[in-house]
Amino acid sequence: MTCQNRSAVKNPSLNPLLAPWVGPAGGVPPFDKVRVEDFKPALEAAMAENLEEIGQIARNPAAPTFENTIAELERSGRRFRRVSAIYGVWSSTMSTDDFQAVERDMQPKLAAFSDKIYQNSALFARIDAVYGSMQHLTPIQQRLCWHYHSNFVRAGAKLDAPAKHQVAQINERLAALFASFSQNLLADEAGYVLYLKSEGDLAGLPESLRTAARSAAAARGHADEWAILNTRSSMDPFLTYADRRDLRERVWRAYYSRGDNNDAHDNKRIITEILALRARRATLLGYATHAHWRVADSMAKTPEAAMRLMMQVWPAAVAREHEEVADMQAVADREQAGAGMKIEGWDYRYYAEKVRKAKYDLDMNEVKPYLQLEKLREGMFWAAGRLYGLAFTQISGLPTSNPEVRVWEAKSAAGAHVGFWYFDPYARSGKNSGAWMSEYRGQENLDARVSPIVSNNTNFLKDESGAPILISWDDAVTLFHEFGHALHGLISDVKYPSLAGTNVVRDFVEFPSQLNENWLSTPEVLSQFAVHYQTGRPIPPELVAKIKTASTFNQGFATVEYLAAALVDMKLHLAGEQPIDVTGFERDTLASLAMPAEMVMRHRTPQFAHIFSSDAYSAGYYSYLWAEVLDHDAFEAFTEAGGPYDQAIAKRLHDDIMAVGNEVDPEQAYRKFRGSDPKIDGLLRARGFI
Ligand SMILES: [Zn+2]
Repeated sequence: MTCQNRSAVKNPSLNPLLAPWVGPAGGVPPFDKVRVEDFKPALEAAMAENLEEIGQIARNPAAPTFENTIAELERSGRRFRRVSAIYGVWSSTMSTDDFQAVERDMQPKLAAFSDKIYQNSALFARIDAVYGSMQHLTPIQQRLCWHYHSNFVRAGAKLDAPAKHQVAQINERLAALFASFSQNLLADEAGYVLYLKSEGDLAGLPESLRTAARSAAAARGHADEWAILNTRSSMDPFLTYADRRDLRERVWRAYYSRGDNNDAHDNKRIITEILALRARRATLLGYATHAHWRVADSMAKTPEAAMRLMMQVWPAAVAREHEEVADMQAVADREQAGAGMKIEGWDYRYYAEKVRKAKYDLDMNEVKPYLQLEKLREGMFWAAGRLYGLAFTQISGLPTSNPEVRVWEAKSAAGAHVGFWYFDPYARSGKNSGAWMSEYRGQENLDARVSPIVSNNTNFLKDESGAPILISWDDAVTLFHEFGHALHGLISDVKYPSLAGTNVVRDFVEFPSQLNENWLSTPEVLSQFAVHYQTGRPIPPELVAKIKTASTFNQGFATVEYLAAALVDMKLHLAGEQPIDVTGFERDTLASLAMPAEMVMRHRTPQFAHIFSSDAYSAGYYSYLWAEVLDHDAFEAFTEAGGPYDQAIAKRLHDDIMAVGNEVDPEQAYRKFRGSDPKIDGLLRARGFI
């Protein structure tokens, strides 16, 4: 760091968040020392310091150059990034009431801080000057200049002062609304737990689910009961197995009503305001809609291109969904002869499971005893070893945010330190539901090698008895998915921090993660790591064959629930400045798409955290489908070459995609890896639509 003036951070030793990280490999986050009351002063001091750094770059009397402007910007803000990383861990995994108060206070200030940088005219003038005369720079330096220039312009650097002021005000208000949205969702997930009191309520539930529900209830002070939490990993298996239709309906309604209960935690008015502010901001920035603004910075480039891809898949998905429901209705009619029962949303998973058994002789409960969380974790390590030469060793003694978090060190084939991987597998109160990867520290080689620190977070239910955690096939896929993001962060080998690892455009970032899902079902992983939790025997090949045959099963459901959400997201953000009535818009949009009656969006609008807890995935939920085109096409490169562990293809994947971060345009990176542009056929084949 070249900054001389450190007055903003007077005494870092008083606040552990401000101190340099100590420990192995350039230091690790001091999770053991952090107190909630440290966040506000630390963030404020780190923001002030970063603004001073920026001010010095902007006021530099020397003519602007790449070195004294862009490279200096890359060197600035390191302390702020360290504080933010830990703040992010608290926000997503330890969201206590006192932390939430800090968050409500700080989110608007963080938004204002970011605008102070983007709206610094003197700074932008220097960036603009370097960008305008960058022909002599290396291609990577040129890409970095373009990256800064385009981010500044997209954030409003070229606007006049009154418009800049309006954008800043909108961003501050949005930040507060995003925080309220997330906190409401968390409140509804915690507030609607279904406690089952008698054995009769458990009819149909497999043993593993009963044990998990028992532990979950005990952990919430309900000994001798069973808790069905209002999260996807509790809801999904309950709806799959519970014989009690009335209880299925209750769980289904509670889950899909999150944020939509017309009470203090209702999100609908927040969403209307978010959409209005986004539309206004897009207009100020010179874009037709928020969707145009967001998608401009992506592989798809226009909302129309994203819509085209989605609508290419939608009719086939809906047609398949109708076939699936017809199969399920036939089972229901046989079972409930004469009752005239019609398949509803809360019946879908239950009857789908029966059809799976009948059609493919595949009982997912027979698979589950082979899917031990810790064994599968070893399996994904093993696959990463075969593909990328990485070796993972668990290490103890590093501070973690919770005793349940464990740490592994990744080393290269040559034995060099690559990075740390933190694993936080279990659900607990204050932790967001779902699964995600986060980066505590990005890789860079600017002045010296900085090694990455990444984490994977999931919400498996811990078995208090210490028995192996058994997970579903879908959860195993998720495990490999998130690890794909982690690998993207770990394998990164770039010079500039802004272009490192997972700092790629939204519709490319899901490519390495979705691609990594493919290695779960390779015979090499299954035969070694899908082993029975009691006998230790590998999963029988007949069972694997059945899983393979049934792999396109229920893809109508999966595709429709996902695409309905992605289409509503895009249409909400294409609607422009008209005021949006959330309930009406969702209903009418789904009707215009001929959404099947028994289907529900994977994330209904009032609970769509991807698009309303920040701007990140707004008008961007299509990204998963976009990346899926890439990932199936890329995996076919392995298949064509002879197998999933083909060393030559793995090396190209490593060198052309995983290691380059955002130093290369993703389209070019993909073409270099594959030798051609991606084709959609692989996706359609994998989903069984052709
Ligand atoms: Zn992902």
